[in-house]
Amino acid sequence: MDFTIQKVLILTDTGYRTVDIRIEGDAIAHIAPDLEARGTIVNGANKLLLPGFINAHTHSSEMWQRGLISPYPLELWLTQLYDCPVINLEQIYLSALGTAAETLLSGGTCVVDHLVLIPGKELETVEATIRGYREIGIRAFIGPLIYDRALDAGIPDEGANREIEPFYWTAEQNLNFLQAAIEKFHRPEEGIGIMTAPTGMQLCSDALFKGCIELSDRYNLCRHTHLLETKAQEKLAWEKYGCTAVAYLDRIGFLSDRTSLAHCVWLNDEDISLLAKTRSTVVHNPLSNLRLGSGIAPVLKYRQAGVNVAFGCDGTASSDGQDMLEAIKIGTMLHNTTDFEYRNWIDPKKAVKMAALGGATGIKLADKIGSLEVGKKADLVLYDLTNLSLLPRTDPVGLLIFGRPTRVVDSVWVNGDRIVAEGKPTRIDIEKLRQDLFQYSDWTGDTKSSTTQKMEAHYRHVMGLPGS
Ligand SMILES: [Zn+2]
Repeated sequence: MDFTIQKVLILTDTGYRTVDIRIEGDAIAHIAPDLEARGTIVNGANKLLLPGFINAHTHSSEMWQRGLISPYPLELWLTQLYDCPVINLEQIYLSALGTAAETLLSGGTCVVDHLVLIPGKELETVEATIRGYREIGIRAFIGPLIYDRALDAGIPDEGANREIEPFYWTAEQNLNFLQAAIEKFHRPEEGIGIMTAPTGMQLCSDALFKGCIELSDRYNLCRHTHLLETKAQEKLAWEKYGCTAVAYLDRIGFLSDRTSLAHCVWLNDEDISLLAKTRSTVVHNPLSNLRLGSGIAPVLKYRQAGVNVAFGCDGTASSDGQDMLEAIKIGTMLHNTTDFEYRNWIDPKKAVKMAALGGATGIKLADKIGSLEVGKKADLVLYDLTNLSLLPRTDPVGLLIFGRPTRVVDSVWVNGDRIVAEGKPTRIDIEKLRQDLFQYSDWTGDTKSSTTQKMEAHYRHVMGLPGS
């Protein structure tokens, strides 16, 4: 339905402008002051309109373990995560709704879900997740998280000659499932896309990576993977391939302008050049990198090398929320400590561009979303500038990014559909979601995992930590 947002503040290259914006169908048709009113009128006075952010890396079903897992590095944290898996499809659906709701209410209009699958119910997991995303109306890319090595293969061996048990699914079984998921669910014109998303070089064989490349070429899909999140993975890559993980991914042809790579903490200068050359996107997940002690991704170096950078919340069990504004704030300020040259620091306006257009670039949609331009899809977020946390009136974007904005999103449109109004999702009953999340959970407290104990001694040995 056509509508006009009147007298709304927008961000320009030089500052701010007050304009009217007319949406026709699913796209932005006009941006100018004092447009003739047509269609539904939306009062934009004292509000700021920005392009929607892309939550460029998350794992929706981790919502059930948020706040739960003790401080551990990734390799041990994963054992805790996998020892309390989500096994119920209703929970999968609810966590997709919850992830989408929190993303929308913090300025996001699109989510990239690296989806952890229920073993034996893989297609059903994808289906339940998509049901949630379609219902709430968010744009979504789902990368079913596949791998073909057992969890302990993700830690370098360092001469220990460990017996690694075979994984229950081979590369071929993974790829057969993925192809079925693509054929059944990939509907980009409806705002739901499938990506090929092997979890990472630490748990995936050559055959699995190559099969993913082949499927992404055949169906014209984006590629997504975790990359060098931890120091242990950096060591593992040398052990496995005799080169860095980036050199390996480049050699097999995984890197491209439709490839996005989550974390990218432990890259060297040549690796960074390879990402720039292949026009790959880095997804920065600062909260998760801090929570798991993974390290600080060299984001200022990426930007100087011309590598596209987007922001993600990562799964809720390692972040422990899906607030895009929080991830952007930390991911912006964090790097001031890494470079005394303050001219390289990220300012709030650049951060908005990274979160919106940078995110869109990573999923090969920069020509369709990510900025306020005539002809682009109307994926828009309207912020209430009279909210207490955005007052007094200073620099709206400065305060949105560096401040502590609370409930500032008034409305969200995806493809021209208003899916949030007056701060609430319009298509789902958020009260019901709250009750369902309550009902399906309990106050468990900490997790106890026997797998953690089994792997801890070897992990400590590999990382040069004393004793066991
Ligand atoms: Zn992740």
